[in-house]
Amino acid sequence: SANLFEALRASFPADLNRWAIECADGPDAGQRYTWRDLDRATAMMANLLASLDLPPASRIAVQVDKSVEALMLYLAVLRAGHVYLPLNNAYQAAELEYFIGNAEPAVVVCAGKNFGWVSKLAFQSGVPWVFSLNDDRTGTLLDRALQMSDVFETVPRQPDDLAAILYTSGTTGRSKGAMLSHANLLSNAKVLHEQWGWSADDVLIHALPIFHVHGLFVASHGALLAGARMLWFNRFDPAAVVARLREATMFMGVPTLYVRLLEQPGLTKDACSRMRLFISGSAPLLIDTFQAWQQRTGHTILERYGMSETVMLTSNPYRPADGDRKGGTVGRPLPGVGLRILDDAGKACEAEAIGHIQVKGPNVFGGYWRMPEKTREEFTEDGWFKTGDVGRADAQGYVTIVGRSKDLIISGGYNVYPAEVEGWLNELPGVLESAVIGVPHPDFGEGVIAVVVPRPGAQLEGEVLIAALKDRIANFKVPKHIFIEPELPRNAMGKVQKNVLREQRGKTFG
Ligand code: ATP
Ligand code: MG
Repeated sequence: SANLFEALRASFPADLNRWAIECADGPDAGQRYTWRDLDRATAMMANLLASLDLPPASRIAVQVDKSVEALMLYLAVLRAGHVYLPLNNAYQAAELEYFIGNAEPAVVVCAGKNFGWVSKLAFQSGVPWVFSLNDDRTGTLLDRALQMSDVFETVPRQPDDLAAILYTSGTTGRSKGAMLSHANLLSNAKVLHEQWGWSADDVLIHALPIFHVHGLFVASHGALLAGARMLWFNRFDPAAVVARLREATMFMGVPTLYVRLLEQPGLTKDACSRMRLFISGSAPLLIDTFQAWQQRTGHTILERYGMSETVMLTSNPYRPADGDRKGGTVGRPLPGVGLRILDDAGKACEAEAIGHIQVKGPNVFGGYWRMPEKTREEFTEDGWFKTGDVGRADAQGYVTIVGRSKDLIISGGYNVYPAEVEGWLNELPGVLESAVIGVPHPDFGEGVIAVVVPRPGAQLEGEVLIAALKDRIANFKVPKHIFIEPELPRNAMGKVQKNVLREQRGKTFG
C-alpha cells in the first residue's frame, strides 16, 4: 500500500525500545518516548478514529498546542486512512468558522481551554465529533484512546489518495486548502532524506510549529524516515535551544529563529561541534544573518524553498561535491522537480533574467480544496503549477526569489522588484526592516512607496532615506514616499502582509 505511515513505520529501528523523541520543555520536560510508544499510541488513536465509523478519507481538523501527542495524532490519522487538517493555533473564532465551514471535517480536535467555543462552533457547522487534546498529555482524545487496543492494521491507501489538507498562510489573500496526497508527501520526504544525508545517527532539534509544511512534514518526516531522534521543543526558546545544541546534529528554522539564536552569547563554534546541518526556509534569509551565522558557528546555513502546495522545491547543496551553498539563493531544483522561469509573454528566461516561477513534479499538489476555479487558474495547460513567486536562476541553476507576482510593481512602464529595493533600504543605517509596495498613482499607474521600521533608538526621516537611495539605484525604483512605522503588519506565520499595507496606503497619491 502507498500509505505514507507504512513507509515511516518501516524506518523505525529494529529495537523499538530505543528512545525516539525527548521532550525538551513544557510540562513533560525530560520525558522520553520510545519507538514502541510511537507505534502503540498511534495504533490506539487510529483505533479510536476507526471506532467512530467515519466515511473513508474524512477530514480530521486539529487546532492544538504543540506536543508529541499532537504529532502522534497526525500519524494516527494517516494510519487510519483519513485526511489530516492542521490549523494554526493563533486562529480565532471567525477564522475557525471559515476553515470548519470550508473543510467540513468529521472530527475536530482542539485545546481543552478552547473546548467551549470551538465545540459550539463545530456542532453548529454539523461536525459530529469534537475532542480535546492538551500539551500535558490530558484531554478527552487521550482518555478515549487509552481504552483502545494498541494494535492496528494500517489502512491501505493509493498513491493519489489525500493524506492532508494544508491551508496556505494567507499572505496574499484568503487561505486556500492545498490537497496533498500520500505520494506527494512520501516522494518529497525520500528526496530530502537522500539530499540532506539523513541517518539513524541524527538528532534533530524540532522547535517549529507543526501546523505547516516546515515543522510537520520537512522536519518530522525527515527524522522519522531516518529512524533518527528528535529533541522536541513545544515552544521556541533561543536559550533553551542553545543549551541542547551539543547533543544535536540537525536544526531547522525560519529566518527569525536564526536571528534570535544569534542574540545568545552561548551560540559558539564549540556549542555546534556535533552539528551537521542548519536549514532555513519559509521566508527569505537575510545575507547578514547567513554571514553572521558562518562567523559565529563555522556552519553555512542551507537555505531551501517550498510552499504548502508543493512541499520542498529547491535546496542548496548539502555535500561540498555538489557545489557551494550560496547565500541569498534557495539553491537548485530538487531531483524530480521541474522548475522553469517565464517572462510576462510566457517565454523561458535567460540566466539571471527575472520571471515567474512554475513547477512540476511528484511533490506538486492535486489542487485547492473545493476551489476548482482557482485550481484551474493556477495550473498551465501543460500541467505546470504557477507558484506566484518571481525569481531568477544563475548560470549554475541556483534560484533567487525576488518576491511575489502579486507584489510586483509596474511604475511608469518599468518593473520594480520590491525585494531588491528592500535590500538596499535595509542596508541603510538605522533601518531594521522595510516593505516596499506599489499604490495607485495618477501619472505612473503605480507609485513606489515604502514602510520602514527603525532599529531600536534610531531616529529616521523618510526624506533622508530617499536621498540616500537616489545615490545608489535608478530613480524609478526609489520610493516616492517613505513612512516610518514601529512595525509591519504580519499574519499568523510572521509573514509581512503587503495587501494590508496597500489598503492602508492606497490613497498616498490621491
Ligand atoms: P498564501 O498562498 O495564502 O498567500 P503563503 O504563500 O505565504 O500564503 P505558504 O505556502 O505557507 O503560504 O508559503 C509559501 C511561500 O513562502 C512561497 O510561495 C514563498 O513566497 C515563501 N518562501 C518559502 N521559502 C522561502 C525562501 N527560502 N525564501 C523566500 N521565500 C520563501
Ligand atoms: Mg502561496
